[in-house]
Amino acid sequence: MPRYLVTGGAGFVGSHAVLALLDRGDEVVVLDNLTQGHRAAVPAGVTLVEADLGDSARVAEVFATWRFDAVLHFAALSIVGASMREPLHYISENVAHSLRLADAAIKAGCLRFVLSSTAALFGNPDRVPIDEECRIAPSNPYGDSKRMVEEGLAWASRIHGLRYAALRYFNAAGSDPAGRAGEDHDPETHLVPLAIDAALERRPALTVFGEDYATPDGTCIRDYVHVTDLAQAHIAALERIETHGSCRYNIGSGNGASVRDVIAAVERIGGRKVPHSIGPRRAGDPAVLVAASDRLRAETGWQPRHGSLDDIVRTAWAWREAHPQGYADRP
Ligand code: UDP
Repeated sequence: MPRYLVTGGAGFVGSHAVLALLDRGDEVVVLDNLTQGHRAAVPAGVTLVEADLGDSARVAEVFATWRFDAVLHFAALSIVGASMREPLHYISENVAHSLRLADAAIKAGCLRFVLSSTAALFGNPDRVPIDEECRIAPSNPYGDSKRMVEEGLAWASRIHGLRYAALRYFNAAGSDPAGRAGEDHDPETHLVPLAIDAALERRPALTVFGEDYATPDGTCIRDYVHVTDLAQAHIAALERIETHGSCRYNIGSGNGASVRDVIAAVERIGGRKVPHSIGPRRAGDPAVLVAASDRLRAETGWQPRHGSLDDIVRTAWAWREAHPQGYADRP
């Protein structure tokens, strides 16, 4: 039975990837420091190693205890705004932890590595939809930290034969359609959960960050991709690196939705108004970010199965309605 190490497997995207692996019958070990992740997000029967990636001795111990077919690396600092306040902290942690993890994996003979990367690599893109040939020009330290990790992995690929996949996520949202996992960040900064919570009157009214962008309704357009589709992309990438070696893919649904589209979808699905007001632009927000995922589709056969905004909002709504306190509601 294949066995995978999933760092950050107690977090939002990581926990959905764990479910995708378990659904295939694979064995999973989760390594998570639980600063953002939740113990209750790790399914029963999955080993959770509660450790920080900065603890090299613990990481080495993990590789000495188990033999892994691949590492799926989700654990990272990932809030763009926070990275603008603490750039060196973001860069040093994300880069050092990721590359030391890859080094430990290589030394243990594990030469397969899947990296959670980001659309933030592209900053203000030179064209939309954004394909893999677009200019890499991150406009914040978070995005730049992932660029540096990708470059480190490329060297490890050339020198040590590491096979890696760098998956550049666009806007991950939604939750497991079977209700086994969901989105629970603290603080929550993402549009979909904030809009749902505003509709459920669990949070104050939503602030729309600017309506003077050069888009049809004046609000920013993003590519919301269902987290379960994103999880499946990791499986596709694992298969691809096995047969073809290292790869880099942009992953989105290919559909752009404005902030107003998301509000309308939440109102339609939830049957409640989303109280909101219009505020100023948020620093660093590009007007339009939409992925071209053609390469991933063509090379791996991956297809989004929950691609519509309504699917995303329906599953996210169901989980948040069932878990008013997020994972704190669960044993
Ligand atoms: N957004 C907003 N109000 C909020 C949070 C987000 O208007 O309270 C907007 C944000 O400006 C962006 C979009 O919603 O255009 C998605 O933001 P999110 O933080 O979810 O993801 P990001 O695109 O930053 O990765």
